[in-house]
Amino acid sequence: MLEPTINAQRLLDDLEALAQFTEPDTPGWTRRFPSDAYRRARQWLRARMETAGLATQLDNAGNLFGRRDGAANMPPIHAGSHTDTVMGGGRYDGTLGVLGALEAARAIADAGIRLRHPLVVADHLSEEATDYAIACLGSLAMCTGHFRPEWLARQVNGVTLRQAMLDMGAHPEELGQPLVKPGEIAAFLELHIEQGPVLEARGATLAAVSGIVGIRRALVELAGKANHAGATPMDLRHDALAAAARIIVAVEEIARAHPGAVGAVGKLDLRPNQGNVIPAQVTLMAEMRSLDMAALDAMWADLLQLAQEASAARGVTLHFHNETRLDSVTPPRWLHELVLAVCRRHDPKALAIPSGAGHDASHLALVTPAAMIFVPSVGGRSHAPEEYTDPADLARGVHALADAIVAIDRA
Ligand SMILES: [Zn+2]
Repeated sequence: MLEPTINAQRLLDDLEALAQFTEPDTPGWTRRFPSDAYRRARQWLRARMETAGLATQLDNAGNLFGRRDGAANMPPIHAGSHTDTVMGGGRYDGTLGVLGALEAARAIADAGIRLRHPLVVADHLSEEATDYAIACLGSLAMCTGHFRPEWLARQVNGVTLRQAMLDMGAHPEELGQPLVKPGEIAAFLELHIEQGPVLEARGATLAAVSGIVGIRRALVELAGKANHAGATPMDLRHDALAAAARIIVAVEEIARAHPGAVGAVGKLDLRPNQGNVIPAQVTLMAEMRSLDMAALDAMWADLLQLAQEASAARGVTLHFHNETRLDSVTPPRWLHELVLAVCRRHDPKALAIPSGAGHDASHLALVTPAAMIFVPSVGGRSHAPEEYTDPADLARGVHALADAIVAIDRA
């Protein structure tokens, strides 16, 4: 059976070439939507796709696709990620998934492998959150009905989202309904850096992602009573911060008690915030994440109960505003097992781990079987110029991606 052979130097050269498209006077490798650097980088990418013999096309959401036809009349296999970065970002977040998919497409063709399915290399528009306040813009508009026409009037530096999308080749007026229906894409694969420390800590170089965690988030308002911190006896106080402290520790304890779950209070606002005044008003943002939604809902119920007890015990009024309940996303079992088996062929120590961060794959999963492969992030660093993955690990990840594409094609 023919096997794809990765040209590691060609992959590294592409990563290096794409990294040169950066916004002037910004730290690291900054290439945000809708900057000129991002637009020019995608023009370069489009040319690289065409050099590889792929037919290129933009959809109405501004996602860039490079397609090689298959031997049979079947829906395409998609592989890709994104090429935009955060301010001060690194060289691999997103770009590895796009340029890795391009290298996989070339390696498959170079080996003389004719896939039955068409293969599409995908660069989804504007994955990172921007000042337009929409993350995963391209994959959201492609795969969900959540795109809102009123977003188009939002302005950043005097540029409306409508104009920004038009400049990237999108047709934003046409958006609103999903651009693809279930069944129209055979599967989606996203190769990505881990952005966390687990692979490095366990001495593994690959992971089949077991899912993208679900999130519950709440804005919690606690109203006590400001009073003299010295003259008010303990049993006559209504200390909102003491109640908040119990809630903060509860988030940590509950998350620790559930394997794989995480939780934190990342934002806290305190009034009057004076050294000699009992805290009267506290607003905090609490969140928990887990792959297991039933466990997450149970954890959340525990937190709510503990918050009620902590505030009642102090005569503090509690307002618990549930803001986010985002479902976890898991690949279908057949696809997860296929990807894990491929990863273990390349590294017997390959892991199955969840992703704590959202990705384009979260949206693609709504319309097609979707899976991700992680390679290590040195020091767990990402969204920073220090973001780094060993070249051998980059190439191994792309090889696993190419093998997974071939395995799906033959499944
Ligand atoms: Zn990313």
